[in-house]
Amino acid sequence: MLSIDDTIAAIATATGPAGLAVLRLSGREAMAIADRVFLGRVALSSAPSHTLHHGWAAWPIATPQDPAKETKRRRLDEVVAALFRAPRSYTRENVVELSCHGGDRSARRILSAVTAAGARLAEPGEFTLRAFLHGRIDLTQAEAVADLIHAATERAHDLALTQLGGDLRRRIDALADRVADAVAEVEARVDFAEDVGGIEVPPHVVRAIAEVDQDLSALLASAPYGRALREGARVPLVGRPNVGKSSLFNALLGEERAIVTAMPGTTRDRVSEAIELSGLHVTLSDTAGLRETADPVEAIGVGLAERALDAGTVVMWVVDGSQSLEAADHRIARRLKGRKVVTALNKCDQESRVAPADLTALLEDQAPVVPVSAARGDGLEALRVALAARLGAESRYDDVAITHPRHAEALERAREALRRAATAAAAEEPGEIVALELRESLAAIGEVTGQGVGEDLLDRIFSRFCIGK
Ligand code: GDP
Repeated sequence: MLSIDDTIAAIATATGPAGLAVLRLSGREAMAIADRVFLGRVALSSAPSHTLHHGWAAWPIATPQDPAKETKRRRLDEVVAALFRAPRSYTRENVVELSCHGGDRSARRILSAVTAAGARLAEPGEFTLRAFLHGRIDLTQAEAVADLIHAATERAHDLALTQLGGDLRRRIDALADRVADAVAEVEARVDFAEDVGGIEVPPHVVRAIAEVDQDLSALLASAPYGRALREGARVPLVGRPNVGKSSLFNALLGEERAIVTAMPGTTRDRVSEAIELSGLHVTLSDTAGLRETADPVEAIGVGLAERALDAGTVVMWVVDGSQSLEAADHRIARRLKGRKVVTALNKCDQESRVAPADLTALLEDQAPVVPVSAARGDGLEALRVALAARLGAESRYDDVAITHPRHAEALERAREALRRAATAAAAEEPGEIVALELRESLAAIGEVTGQGVGEDLLDRIFSRFCIGK
């Protein structure tokens, strides 16, 4: 990890023509460095916090260490400097934000000037990393900053906002407090057991453990939907040729096209399009357009296998209800076993030759079967409702949801340790054993908010951020 003592700089706004661009500096020397590139009526170093100063950005004046740099002060752009003195800033360090004209030229030239004046270019997410390292925000809030920037739907944005506001942090801290209380009580009894005798894990502690387990489970129940909200969901349409996949794909898109959210990286070809469904950014893909093979499932097999653990993938199986099931249908059903499936029984405008129950029996997993007619538009709403439910949209959560696999994984470990503690207590094992398991649970809960996490994990989390955030 690069030194936290450096003063860092980056362009905080996106590239391209725009009204304004913003450069950010953070670190002990932020004001001093800004002064070397700033031509204005006041010296920023002596100006009070939370003030704005109009002036010009110019090539830096010579620093005492480098008199050779004595160049003419070439103006680079008109700017407004905003000052935030530590600790009342985004990073809790000294921060200067220089607003200049948009377009890439001004900001890039000023950035060169600022680095020539002594700042180092910031790594992706380094401002937010510093806010975390200085304790202004916890790890869930830092992660929410990235989620906010990348939110593809309004609901995903809302959820990122509540997480940024600290709702998840408070829930996690409250759980940790209760486990810590239980640990303290058990350990105290272990210490005094020889003096006072009696049981080491009293009933009210056992009850407290069960309650935390319940709360953890409630939180974890929101994880599949939370993750789909944050990452978006993928729904491939599979089925044998001519059952109506392309027709259904177009019918589903046709009605939804108005609210399709443009997301960078989303392929804009005809085989893959995004719709918004119950607040989820759902990418439908028409596998018929990918590759016609004897086995259409094969065409998406690789992608699905890669995402075997991906909660955000539900397969839409399209069946032609106007014809009896064929060997190919059975083959596809076998391949879909164990996956999350929603079945569209298409061509219901014609005489039916397939009963929904036949299909449910083939999949053995209570997958909903919805009669539709892609041609007439019948049943599309019911299909959307079934799909949303399959994606977890019906799962209720109050104010917070678990949106990151990292959080879910840590909380699952916490719950397992908690359950081992409960089992040990029920078996009247020594209090030390129970305390050990409780401590393990506590550590896992703490990982969510960033306690005791190593540099590797921080690197992984923050490298996903934009530069300048
Ligand atoms: P794909 O090969 O699975 O993508 O199937 P297509 O969407 O190309 O449709 C195959 C044929 O079925 C076309 O002739 C469509 O017009 C017809 N078709 C699709 N949906 C329906 C439907 O709901 N009712 C009827 N009657 N025909 C349909």
